[in-house]
Amino acid sequence: MELKLADYKSDLAPDWCPGCGDYGILSALQMALFKLGIEPSRAVLVSGIGCSAKTVHYAATYGIHTLHGRGLPVAQGVKLANPELTVVAMAGDGDGMGIGAGHFVGVGRRNIDMLYLIFNNEVYGMTKGQASPTLELGAQPKSLARPNVQAKVNPLMLAFAAGFTFIARGYAYDVKNLARLIQQGIEHKGLAMIDILQPCPTYNNLHTREWFAPRVYDVNAEGYDPKVPREMSDAERAERMGRFTVLATEWGERIPTGVFWQAELPTFEERLGGFLPGYPDQAPATRPTGAEAERLRSLMQGHRVGG
Ligand code: SF4
Repeated sequence: MELKLADYKSDLAPDWCPGCGDYGILSALQMALFKLGIEPSRAVLVSGIGCSAKTVHYAATYGIHTLHGRGLPVAQGVKLANPELTVVAMAGDGDGMGIGAGHFVGVGRRNIDMLYLIFNNEVYGMTKGQASPTLELGAQPKSLARPNVQAKVNPLMLAFAAGFTFIARGYAYDVKNLARLIQQGIEHKGLAMIDILQPCPTYNNLHTREWFAPRVYDVNAEGYDPKVPREMSDAERAERMGRFTVLATEWGERIPTGVFWQAELPTFEERLGGFLPGYPDQAPATRPTGAEAERLRSLMQGHRVGG
């Protein structure tokens, strides 16, 4: 049966505030899955807690709405148990860069073949707009009684330090380009992260749609090539790292979006296959059961005895 975009939409109507950037992210994600022709039953969305976490309810894929900051461990378990699935984990900036920051670093070290989306609006939207870890020092959106007293975390730089092999930034109101980035992130062989600028019109009156509109630009459309192939020399890699750092920290009159870094490295699944016979072709979810499992077990025993 031919897939339609409508096949990725659930029957539930989103209850985000009017004008929330989350609507654009949901649309972009559905478009990307549709364009890639991924059957809804072969995709799993995993979220933590927060406004962003509701996304899993609004897509007609499989979805798991987990605990605060704990989307990544569950997503990794799903992917490793059944590597044939397309797994997209997601979190808000509070969920992902606060309570879930340890998991963010841990998953970066593994290079599991999945995608992680950060819905970055610089506030804890679901609990009335407290400062999140991505809010600038001294910033005072209308939800705060006084200016923010802590410095911000940069998700792009943290992803780089942790070892993510695909690092990008998207903008929630540029749905077409965001869908393209999500598509590329899913297609990337390894761990991908997209930091998505997602205005929260209810609590963050500083970084609004009007504020972002004249600033965001697409680095890839301007000719920037993020690819870091295995054969790249150390000097070339160092030059690319320098350019990545400039892009990841550019914030003000111009704010870059696009793919900033895409490196080639063996995935965690490939490395596991080095010492788990048959993995990932025979992962826990696809391993034979019953009579077929018995037959294979006796074959292996025979092989051990004979060998
Ligand atoms: Fe969106 Fe902010 Fe409303 Fe949450 S509080 S739904 S992030 S606009």
